[in-house]
Amino acid sequence: VEISTSSVHVLALGLGGATAFGHRTAAAVADMTADAVLDLTARSVRTCLTALERDGVRPVGITLAVPGVIDADTGTVEYAPALGWRGLRILDGLRDRLERPVPPLTVGNDAKLGAVAEYVHAQGAGVQDMICITGERGVGAGIITDGRLLLGSTGFAGEVGHMPLDPERRPCVCGRTGCWETMVGLDAIFRLAAADGDPVRDPGVELEERLAELRRRAESGHARTRQALDRVADDLALGIALLADVLNPQAVVLGGYFSHIGDLMLDRVREVVRARVMAPDAGGCEVAMSTLGFRAAAQGGAHLALDAVYQDPGAV
Ligand code: BGC
Ligand code: ZN
Repeated sequence: VEISTSSVHVLALGLGGATAFGHRTAAAVADMTADAVLDLTARSVRTCLTALERDGVRPVGITLAVPGVIDADTGTVEYAPALGWRGLRILDGLRDRLERPVPPLTVGNDAKLGAVAEYVHAQGAGVQDMICITGERGVGAGIITDGRLLLGSTGFAGEVGHMPLDPERRPCVCGRTGCWETMVGLDAIFRLAAADGDPVRDPGVELEERLAELRRRAESGHARTRQALDRVADDLALGIALLADVLNPQAVVLGGYFSHIGDLMLDRVREVVRARVMAPDAGGCEVAMSTLGFRAAAQGGAHLALDAVYQDPGAV
């Protein structure tokens, strides 16, 4: 279950990696109370479970992906800036609302879950040190060093979207100014690429459709769109170079909305990263596009649920 600022999206993944069931409830989640989001999430999960039951499918687990810092042990969202949540016992809240035995529930950060999926996906290439950056309305990351997801002392590792990089110091949802996500998140690319009132900036239009329109404009040489992409590419590269110098990953993988239009920025991002890192030949890293797209978090959630089954087959 992915809870973003705009929707609650339930995706059931089977062993073949195939989507068994998708359910999207469009709502301005960021404007709802936590209780209302939990009601909506419970309703969506119930609909999904009923449909799966009808097909004779019994899920092995449910994972919630949330754009914020998570304490997985207690099932608490410690802080989700865009949703305004602090210390929300989200798993207890969901369990209470489901009112029937449900598969084991877990919760994780959207970008870190995405990174788990990317890491599993990259295993063929033997990558052990990677940073997976997720571009949504906000920007997050899962940092994998030596094959382990970095959490930090209190779980805040990977909150790259709030690195203070913007000299223009635009206000951020976290209450401060100049955060990286105000330069390279979805709002930034749409604001830079299109004028107020342009359908590309209308949150009521499907996100995939808005991104496809940006692509069409870029490919037909639309000046403002091209400039916006160049600007975001430069700012993206600035943050990547900084992370690369600190963490020295083999690869930086760009996911979320970057998997839809990041290819239009990739050459420039690579070039600017090379120009900015301390030692491009010795300490440089490969910048690559995710192929998992907006499904990465759900896929990471499925990996997590399956891991729990391997560790304790009796629990399901
Ligand atoms: C949040 C992160 C999240 C990212 C992407 C940021 O605003 O702080 O936790 O991963 O957005 O949704
Ligand atoms: Zn911020």
